[in-house]
Amino acid sequence: MCTCIRLPATQVFVKTGYTQDVTERSKQWTFACNMTTTLVYSKARKPLLIPYARRVEALCHAELQHVNEIVDCNACVAYHMEWLRTSVAEAIAVVQK
Ligand SMILES: [Zn+2]
Repeated sequence: MCTCIRLPATQVFVKTGYTQDVTERSKQWTFACNMTTTLVYSKARKPLLIPYARRVEALCHAELQHVNEIVDCNACVAYHMEWLRTSVAEAIAVVQK
């Protein structure tokens, strides 16, 4: 599943990627990072097997590298590496290519 998730805590970060269960992934951020997220784009309404999902994700991240930021998370005391300071529209446009 290809997804774009907006992080409402800041309203400026978008995360793109794939996961087997986006709902569970969002719950993990809520628990560990004390933030709620909003799913703004999904390739499929139900889980969809995408060939080479990791490669597709890498291509999206490469194209959005110019807006990638490393975020020091105060809640889980970790650095988040793939948060994108961009608009939801730009992130979705890249994912849809
Ligand atoms: Zn965190």
